Formats: sequence, C-alpha cells, structure tokens
Amino acid sequence: MPTELLYLRDAYLRSFTASVSAIDGDRVALDATAFYPTGGGQPHDTGTLAGRPVLDVRKEGDVVWHALDGAPPEVGTEVAGEVDWDRRHALMRTHTALHVLCGVIWNEWGTAVTGGNMEPLAARMDFEFDPLPEGFGATVEQLVNSELAAARDIRIEFLPRDTALADADLIRTKVNLIPDTVKEIRVVDIVGLDKQADGGTHVRATDEVGRIKVIKTESKGKGNKRIRIEVLDG
Ligand SMILES: [Zn+2]
Repeated sequence: MPTELLYLRDAYLRSFTASVSAIDGDRVALDATAFYPTGGGQPHDTGTLAGRPVLDVRKEGDVVWHALDGAPPEVGTEVAGEVDWDRRHALMRTHTALHVLCGVIWNEWGTAVTGGNMEPLAARMDFEFDPLPEGFGATVEQLVNSELAAARDIRIEFLPRDTALADADLIRTKVNLIPDTVKEIRVVDIVGLDKQADGGTHVRATDEVGRIKVIKTESKGKGNKRIRIEVLDG
C-alpha cells in the first residue's frame, strides 16, 4: 500500500496519526506520514512514532519506511507521529536558502547548479562556473540576503506534466528529466525569483529563512565550483 506523503502539501504538519501498513524488522510502513524521507539533497526527519524514537526514514518505491529504536507496533495499529520540529524547520530554512541561492546565481550570472547537499543550517552547492567571478562570495551573500529580507512568498503547486514542461522557468531547472510516469509535478515557486520541480519541504516566505553566510568557495575542477553556506537567524 502506498504511503500518502503529508509533507508535500503541508510542510508545517508536525503531529499526525496513521495506520501501520507493514513491518520489516525494526522498520514500520504507514498509510500516511509527515516524516520526510532522505531525498533530493534533504536529509530525513527524526522524531517519535508510537513513542519510539525514529532513527531513519527512507522511501522505497511508493512506501515510506521508518526505522524505530524499539519493537515496532503491529500491522493495523493506529499510531501517533511527532516530527522533531527544531531539526525539520532548520532543514526547511536551509532548503529554501538553497533555492534562493540558485535563483540569484541564475539571474546574476546565468549559471546552472550541478549538485548540492544540506544539513540543518549548513549546505554546499556546486555550479558550472569557470572561473568563479571576482569577489563572488561577498557578492552572492549580499544578493541572497537581500532576497531573503524581501519576504517573497513561496507557493507549492501541483501542475499537470504538460503544463510544467511548457514552463520556461521549469525547463531551465531540467523538469524534462522527470520520468514520464510522473503525471503531476510538484513545483516550489519562490514568487518572482526561482521556480523548480521539487519534493522538499520549504518555509512560507523567504524572511523565515533568516540570512546566510558564505563560509567558503572552492574549485572542484574545471567548470565545477563549490560554495558552502551557513544559515543564521535574521
Ligand atoms: Zn530543492
């Protein structure tokens, strides 16, 4: 039975109840979950499920598996889940900061992202620069922080595949690479700045991120430059 992914429509949902649909060793599958599974560069949530600590969350096919510290509840049991909100909200701020960074770098230099990864309040992203522009770190930090302070709305939309594929902003972020089997595409729109097909959890407006600090820029080879940031309170 597929797991309904509650976080896709409501990133602010932190408590929920669901029914155990399967167990596998110390892992539990639910009919619905608010726990984000590792993917898209965003690490999994932690928290508690049926009072047991949630150690890991993974999505396999349509099913989300929660690894618990303790014996799993039986199949069919109604259980309460509680997401560790400090960690999740830090990840939401960090994920949104990275999308703002992508938008700023595209608008200013026309350069696309090649990869990235995040932890709560710290992240790295790689871009196709060669070489990095003079004074890049300081410039990007200032541009990103002014976009964050501008309190741009962030909207989550679910678009039919054909509509998404016809959108120029989504094409540049490689929406065409999403498999044909996906008929409805979730879009994270930082209104007026950046629009991407994305499955992650984001804050409601950019000022909720706070501000960023560029920690380091480095070369990872020809046409691949890395930027490391931290996310700080505004
Ligand atoms: Zn993303």
